[in-house]
Amino acid sequence: MSFKHFNKTRLAPTPSGFLHLGNAYSFLLTQKLALQYGAKMLLRIDDLDRERVQKKYVQDIFDTLNFLNIGWQEGAKNTNEFEEKFSQLHRLELYNHALQQLKNEGKVFACSCSRTKVLHDSPNGVYAGTCKHKNISLHAKDVVWRLNTDEDKEIVVNALNGEQIKTKLPSIMNYFIVRRKDGFPSYQLASLIDDVFYNIDLIVRGEDLWHSTLAQLYLASVLKQERFLNASFHHHALLTNAQGEKLSKSAGDTSVRFLREQGKTREEVVALLR
Ligand SMILES: [Zn+2]
Repeated sequence: MSFKHFNKTRLAPTPSGFLHLGNAYSFLLTQKLALQYGAKMLLRIDDLDRERVQKKYVQDIFDTLNFLNIGWQEGAKNTNEFEEKFSQLHRLELYNHALQQLKNEGKVFACSCSRTKVLHDSPNGVYAGTCKHKNISLHAKDVVWRLNTDEDKEIVVNALNGEQIKTKLPSIMNYFIVRRKDGFPSYQLASLIDDVFYNIDLIVRGEDLWHSTLAQLYLASVLKQERFLNASFHHHALLTNAQGEKLSKSAGDTSVRFLREQGKTREEVVALLR
């Protein structure tokens, strides 16, 4: 029996495809931990990826959560409420405020490299810092803003089991992007600012997001967001298919919607997750 208590956790799906069994597994685990630790649940839908987000996928999030009988106390209850009140587009000012802080403190530099150029300079995808000393204007066209990261800086992750993991930013996250070419904040920045805004202190996510957790903790320390630095994290293993591959939103037969339309009940779908 645990006497630890958390204020709030969140479900944070992206509406860029139909949700699959891996998402269902993550939601159910989050709900279980929320109950165990007395935490409220927020539904946060990350919709800044304007090219991939579609309304039918937003609807699918509500359909899937309702089908799984997962309740949440905060956040939109339907697509209309989502668009009117909870879309990330309503929080652009908050993200821009953080970006301005990074700019004022000289923590970012502009980078004009294309994805092809980054891979050409360094085939393993690690950004080599090519533009760090070029002094490109942050307001030039078609540039991203990169954080001027320090590979020696210590990052502390508070794991849910009470362990404190001390580590450093992995090289794949060197100079990670905080502002995209289109002027929108990157996933790392928006996710951090949202978790701070909504007062989240328990974050449950797949282990594929471990590097993102480190980037977000790094950014939180630069922005002095103590609440996020003190949050607890639980990274769960990912559900795989029969071939041992990670499930994807494009594979139709593992989508919860497909199983629902096949007439499967909640219990039958939950049984597939064991
Ligand atoms: Zn560059």
